Amino acid sequence: MTNLTANTTTTQPQGTDKAVETLSWLPDGCPAWCEYGELHVENDQPVDREHSSRALEVLTSLYNTEEPGHPPYMAVHIAQHYRESEARIWVGQDETNVGRFMTLDEARELALQILEQVKRAEGI
Ligand SMILES: [Zn+2]
Repeated sequence: MTNLTANTTTTQPQGTDKAVETLSWLPDGCPAWCEYGELHVENDQPVDREHSSRALEVLTSLYNTEEPGHPPYMAVHIAQHYRESEARIWVGQDETNVGRFMTLDEARELALQILEQVKRAEGI
């Protein structure tokens, strides 16, 4: 298997791996990657009952922007609604909703295709 690495930083606040108390809608707690365990509460609306990992950022220096401040980046994080059977991967632009969720298989395929294109471009 290919070892994927990138220069990344995190943007979301520190969290814990698991909820402190057992919630009726979350009897088994959070997945290990969920950074919002302490933020889940009993009266969360069903639409808000979602696990999320920290976002990993990859700066995109070729992306032209007029906005000052944080340089543009692509963000990647894991999400899973409490009733979904499998996690999803978000790949998006900055902190916008421009991007899309992918299944784990789709995200893996995209990562492998990017690596293949990088190898081709480098003549490897
Ligand atoms: Zn969670």
